[in-house]
Amino acid sequence: MLTDQAAGAFRALTGTDPVGVWSGPGRINLIGEHTDYNDGFVLPFALPQAAFLAASPRTDGRWRLRSVDLDDTVELGLDELVPGTPGWHSYLAGVVWALREAGHEVVGADLVLTSDVPLGAGLSSSAAIECAALTALADLNGLDIAPMDRAKLARVAENAYVGAPTGLLDQAASTLCVADHALFLDCRTLETQQVPLAVTAAGLEILVIDTRTRHSHVDGEYAARRASCEEACRLLGVPALRDVTDLDDALARLPEQTGRRVRHVVTENQRVLDAMTALAAGDYPGLGRLMTASHASMRDDYEITEASVDLAVEVALAEGALGARMTGGGFGGCVLALVSADRVDAVSEAVIAAFAAAGLPQPVTFLGRPSAGARRVR
Ligand code: ADP
Ligand code: MG
Repeated sequence: MLTDQAAGAFRALTGTDPVGVWSGPGRINLIGEHTDYNDGFVLPFALPQAAFLAASPRTDGRWRLRSVDLDDTVELGLDELVPGTPGWHSYLAGVVWALREAGHEVVGADLVLTSDVPLGAGLSSSAAIECAALTALADLNGLDIAPMDRAKLARVAENAYVGAPTGLLDQAASTLCVADHALFLDCRTLETQQVPLAVTAAGLEILVIDTRTRHSHVDGEYAARRASCEEACRLLGVPALRDVTDLDDALARLPEQTGRRVRHVVTENQRVLDAMTALAAGDYPGLGRLMTASHASMRDDYEITEASVDLAVEVALAEGALGARMTGGGFGGCVLALVSADRVDAVSEAVIAAFAAAGLPQPVTFLGRPSAGARRVR
């Protein structure tokens, strides 16, 4: 569907059919929150929502970049590929720039994109368009770049060209994920592992509840949590919280609040490893318990939840979810609930009713079926 829309919009812009269409999915984190900058573990999976990008090379060494969704077209020459240029198109121009900086030959191209990953909802619409573009340009230019290296280049586009200081999680998930699997990523070694997450085969669904609450103080709180972790590392004499092996000893040596921050990170890393063990055994109730424990840890120790996500988790559990947790940086955003397929509607309706009763905006719910990473679709 979006493949056709991207191809149709390409034809409308250029008068010709695209050489191909590529996609890059959004992502969501199953478990492992605020562990990435502590050299720890994350377990994201790719969403069915994705960016679709129709593309053909050009012979004049220029790039024409169009977003159907924003109804905007930008044309650039080589001398206009300047890091820090503002605008949506810098996510695509940044991919061209990152490839060239890495020494790859990249010819000019027409790129037309449309995406159903909501912008700025924490589902990584930015990585979706970067990873679709990176896969497209690698194919169009005959570049043989290993998947993890493609993810790293997409991250360079976002960090160095767009100027957003993000970790590798988004681009690694959008590039490397496989359908019906979550992607284990060790943020220190960049080791990855495909972990089976065949929820539908188990009669389950991952219900995503987008609370549509996002607080303006998130950046400051994020910086404060990072600072607490760095302070704890100094006090404990470890390079990263990943290296805390004796939690009780660490807690005895830290101020109370810093100790709770450390306890979240250390126990959350362990929960990621335990989730992998549960999934390898097909133990979905076990996964559910870990998700709920993760939420409690974010609520009580890391203190990054707020009323709407706590309410969504509480109602989902009361309606029979096997587990539920906030996902993402915190202070709003999305909740994941692991629900038996026949309870999806009941959970969804109960959460919507509870939000209405609490005077909160109506949440948006959808099924987060673990999907494939960036690839050529036509
Ligand atoms: P997210 O959590 O969705 O990744 P970001 O702020 O990191 O939020 O990225 C969102 C930005 O990515 C948008 O503001 C826009 O510049 C760009 N973007 C994402 N999807 C599209 C699209 N379909 N068309 C144009 N730009 C897009
Ligand atoms: Mg983003």
